[in-house]
Amino acid sequence: MRKKTFLKLKVREASFITRALISTRHPVLAHLIPMRRCNLACGYCNEYDHTSKPINLDIIKSRLDKLSKLGTSVVTISGGEPMMHPELDQVIHHIRERGMIAGLISNGYYFTPERIKRLNHAGLEYLQISIDNVEPDEVSRKSLRVLDKKLRYLSEYADFHVNINSVIGGGIKNPEDALTVARRAVELGFSTTVGVIHDNDGTLKPLSPKEKDIFQQVKKLGNKDHARLNWFQDIIAEGKPYNWRCRAGARYLYVCEDGLVHWCSQQRGYPGIPLEQYTMEDFDREYKTEKWCAPTCTLQCVHQVGILDNWRDPQKTPAQMVQEQKDGKGVGEMIGAD
Ligand code: SF4
Ligand code: SF4
Repeated sequence: MRKKTFLKLKVREASFITRALISTRHPVLAHLIPMRRCNLACGYCNEYDHTSKPINLDIIKSRLDKLSKLGTSVVTISGGEPMMHPELDQVIHHIRERGMIAGLISNGYYFTPERIKRLNHAGLEYLQISIDNVEPDEVSRKSLRVLDKKLRYLSEYADFHVNINSVIGGGIKNPEDALTVARRAVELGFSTTVGVIHDNDGTLKPLSPKEKDIFQQVKKLGNKDHARLNWFQDIIAEGKPYNWRCRAGARYLYVCEDGLVHWCSQQRGYPGIPLEQYTMEDFDREYKTEKWCAPTCTLQCVHQVGILDNWRDPQKTPAQMVQEQKDGKGVGEMIGAD
């Protein structure tokens, strides 16, 4: 990324963070799914299919317009594999036209010099690629060996920020792969983060001593800002629950391919309201609702958004919220948010 572009992005980020600290009543980050289809089939993934069609561009634009009206700061396009959407460039361009920061999460397979230049032109600002291992195996083909050429293209041509995320825990066969991936990312001039994942059955288990050692080494290689924001991972790495306030459904929105708002990719169905009908009442209710899955949650981006409000506005359990509604209190009375 060119220095001038990088500085511009940092200034925009700083203004969005300031705005988020001053007011709690707008989404900070939305993940938008333009198609569920993916070219891969990672063994741990529940977010893809192999048959669905891309969502029509006009429909996506109207969803982006609604996110903009709600005051959203950052829109990250995710999937499935969003690079398979034939009109991805126009989607990114529309995010920028609405004054929001444009990000993309991809498995990296479709990056060619020509495609990267088109994304530069469309105005992409952030890209994240997760790399699971060095050699492909039966669980994941998001592998350094397969993707190294794509990373070299990105290093040469991308005018957007590239972050490479590696993973540790969850029975990943070779924990040292995370270190190899992170070192390669740094060598190519990218930032790097590491995600701690649950065991296959979703239980929270402490990392082994070897995994912990590698986790700390990868963290040291990474972006210091990210390390500061991801301190929850140190608790999760110990296999302990982490106490925080998840603001999904409010400060963070997950908008699926059907245009429904969910807490996140792992809690689809809550609240499951169409984005076009989403109101500030919905926003306020979800802002105030304690999420039962929070103590064991490993979703880095939602944790990072949560930091902005962790120190204010304590939450209530869904049962308490329902009881208060029954007792006749309006949402406005229940919510102390500004
Ligand atoms: S590449 Fe991503 S969306 Fe596709 S199967 Fe793997 S984890 Fe899921
Ligand atoms: S705590 Fe985590 S899993 Fe639960 S809703 Fe929030 S982001 Fe989703």
